[in-house]
Formats: sequence, C-alpha cells, structure tokens
Amino acid sequence: MLMKALYDNTPLRPNPSQPRKDRQPVTASCYLCSKTFNNSDVLRHGEHVLQNAIGGALICDDILCEACGGRLGTSVDGAFAEAIAPLTALLQTPRDRGSQAQAKVQLRTSDPNAKELESIGFLLKNDFTVVPTRPVMVPDHSAKVARIVASSLQQANQFKRSRPIQDLLTRGYTVEVSDNAAAYAERLLLTARPGAPEILRGILKIAIGFASLHGVQRRYLAHLMSHTDLTTSPSQLRSLIIPYYPVDDVERLFETEKHVHEDWYPTHHVYLFSHGRDLYCYVELFGVLQNYVHLSDAYDGPQLIEKFVQKAEKWHFNENAFIARSPSDLDILAKEFGVPQNQTWEQIQAQVLHRAASRSYRLEPDETIEKVQALALLLAQYARLPNPEGFECVREMFAKAEAAKTQLGLRLLDDLKANPLHVVNLLNKNYSEFRIGNPRASRPAQAFQVSAPDVERYVSYKFYELLRAKGREAELEYQLL
Ligand SMILES: [Zn+2]
Repeated sequence: MLMKALYDNTPLRPNPSQPRKDRQPVTASCYLCSKTFNNSDVLRHGEHVLQNAIGGALICDDILCEACGGRLGTSVDGAFAEAIAPLTALLQTPRDRGSQAQAKVQLRTSDPNAKELESIGFLLKNDFTVVPTRPVMVPDHSAKVARIVASSLQQANQFKRSRPIQDLLTRGYTVEVSDNAAAYAERLLLTARPGAPEILRGILKIAIGFASLHGVQRRYLAHLMSHTDLTTSPSQLRSLIIPYYPVDDVERLFETEKHVHEDWYPTHHVYLFSHGRDLYCYVELFGVLQNYVHLSDAYDGPQLIEKFVQKAEKWHFNENAFIARSPSDLDILAKEFGVPQNQTWEQIQAQVLHRAASRSYRLEPDETIEKVQALALLLAQYARLPNPEGFECVREMFAKAEAAKTQLGLRLLDDLKANPLHVVNLLNKNYSEFRIGNPRASRPAQAFQVSAPDVERYVSYKFYELLRAKGREAELEYQLL
C-alpha cells in the first residue's frame, strides 16, 4: 500500500529511483568549531540552512555540531527571526516549531475618537489581527459606547474594572470589548530594517551553511567567524554583503512586477558561485531581501555553481503518503529520506515526515532560468509585431517593460524596436548567467557600483511589490530604516 502511495500517487516528488544529488561529499566536521563529528561529544546537529523562522526547507546534518548549532541558534537565528518579522508576519510562513510571527506596527486611523490608538504600539499577527501592547479605550460619546481593545478578552475585561470605565458605566454607557484593533486601522506602518546587523548575520549564516553543505572548506570562510560565533562587526557585515541590483536588461525585466510572472512567488533563492578567486553566495528571501555575500577573495577550490530554490509560503502537503503502515514501509521510508534507523518508530516517522515536507517545498532552479529566457524572447517577439497594441497580452508586456524602463532604466524594448537584429543578441544570450554573470562581468561586482540612493529606491520597490502581491498595499506600508 505504501509502495503505491510512494510511487504512483505523489507527482510532486522527484523520481525515487534517481535521488536528487544535491551535494558533494563534505569533510565530516563542524564549520564553526572545526571539530570532527563522532558519536560521543561532537554530535551532528540537524541544521536549517535557511532558518526555521522563514520556513527554510533545506536541512543538513553534517555542517554544525550540536553545541555550535545551538549556540548559533541563539546568537544569530533568534535575533534574525525577530528582525525579519515585518516580512514573515505578512505571509503564511511554514515553520517546524515555534510560535507564529508577529511584527510591531503603528496604526493610523481617520476615526477622531480613536486617535489615542496612534500613540501606542501594536503587534500584527499573520492572521492579520492587530493587537495593542496595552489596553486602550475608544469612547463614542454620541452613542454612549466605550470600546475597549486589549491583547486578550481577559485583559479587556480586567481593564473594564478600572475607574474611568466604571465612571462611564454609571453614566449609562455600554462597554464593548475586543482583542483586535484592525477595524480602526486605516493604515498600518511596518518598520523594516533590511540592512540591520541581525538581518545581515542571518544572511551570512545562510551563505556559510550553504557553502559548507557544498563542500567549501572552512579555511575559505574562517575570516567570517571565530570558533564560537559568526562575526558581529557591523562594518565587516556591510562590506561583505552587497545588496543586489538588476544591472542587466533581462534582470530588470524579470525584477519588475516579479510577483505576476514568478511561479510560487514569494520564494527563497540561494546561489553559490565562484568567479576566479571570488566566492559569492546570492541569497534572496521572500523575493524581497536580495543580497550577495562575498564569502572569499582567495578561493582556489573547484569552480562552483550550486543553487537552491524553495517556496516561502505554506501550501498543501499530503502527509498520508509518508505514513508507514508496516515495519517494511518504515524501512523503505527511512532509507528514502536518509533517516537513521537506530531510533524508535515514532522518531523515525517524525523525521521522515519532516524531511518529506521540506522536500515538497523545493523548486527546480532551472525553472527560473527558463522563465527569464521566455520573458525576454516574448518581449522580442511582441516588439516585432506589426500592430502590437491590438493584443491585451502585448499591452501588458509593454506596460511591464515601460515600468522597468522608468524604475530601472530598461532599454531592451527601445533597442528591439530600433533594431530588429537585436533579437539575435537575445537568442544568443547565456541565461544561466542570470544574477551571477561571469568572471569578466560579475553581477556582484557590477551591483557594487550602483549608487546607494538607487539601491534604496529598488529595495523600497521590492517591499511594495510584496504588498501588492498580497493585496495589502492599500492598508499596509513599509517604512524602511
Ligand atoms: Zn561545532
């Protein structure tokens, strides 16, 4: 029965007879303390290469030891989770454990009775409830109603016993209680700090983890950490981590209204690549935070291009296909997912489910490249139509190109219209250089040349794009610090 479930009924899984080869052999030691794993005092840690707080689906158990994994969980991941909450609270981010994300917001209201709400802090949860940090009363004197908003109904009822409310009750007011201030919010302001050290350290950890997973030796990464922690120096972090900017026309086109054409938007991307002696890791989180991490300028190992792409939001996962119904089922599943069998049935089953769920979030990195190429060639095809504006799909494509021109300086459509032979350039282009470039035209080196105001404008646009994708641009606003 299980065999049927495994092999016939799970179209999202890769062909089980050809397991994904997604890593090179690595030296079995911890990248932080450099101790070799054993079964006594240096134990392997089941590490989320992308953090659990952002729904990371890439798990690896031979890059960090238990002690270091736990230590970085506290020193890097905890602060990262809090700093990234303005993004995760907006999204249905899948997590293995831990409470749901909540982000601090300020509220703006047009209700003159509710103006006091503007002076207190709120938490936005990812079910879009807006919870005040302390109870507050919103009076409506003409209707003789006092509305209490608090973090819970219990707290609201306690507050009801306070002197000012009791006074209103004796004057014939009715009291209503609520634990959600969303109804008063004309607009919510979320403060995001994409360049905060907590965010940058989280990104650095992803890059180091991904590089270690792909066999990059510790000596190339050692300057980024001590034996007990990743660097905490804000200036080192800022010099290592370069904000992404689309410097190529095809990337400008792709990064304009990405949510419309990118399947599964928002997604997480991690690309590890070398240009000569430079080793970089591109890290994109929720389609919004896009950065290059310059891991080394003295890399002399094998040339590298390794990619990982995953969905960033919850979607349906069919658990039943991965439940063992007999010992032989369990044995097959454990082997399939590389789960050690010297544990109880429940432990093996739990790990199998966890790994199966993680795998179901994976996306094929080449699909992004195919999408990029299709977009560019579609624009080329449309640009040559005799009466292009007569078609809805063409008008949409041209509007996208126009927006990319205004915001990011796209020249592609003008070039195509001016010179039909420009299509040949597009046909000959190497699309696998998307976000990577080549040693002579390294995208990180080019992005590094972009002025700070241009980068800031681009980052603001990305946050706005996410709000539009979630249909929240009318009520939510990001303040970027
Ligand atoms: Zn260690």
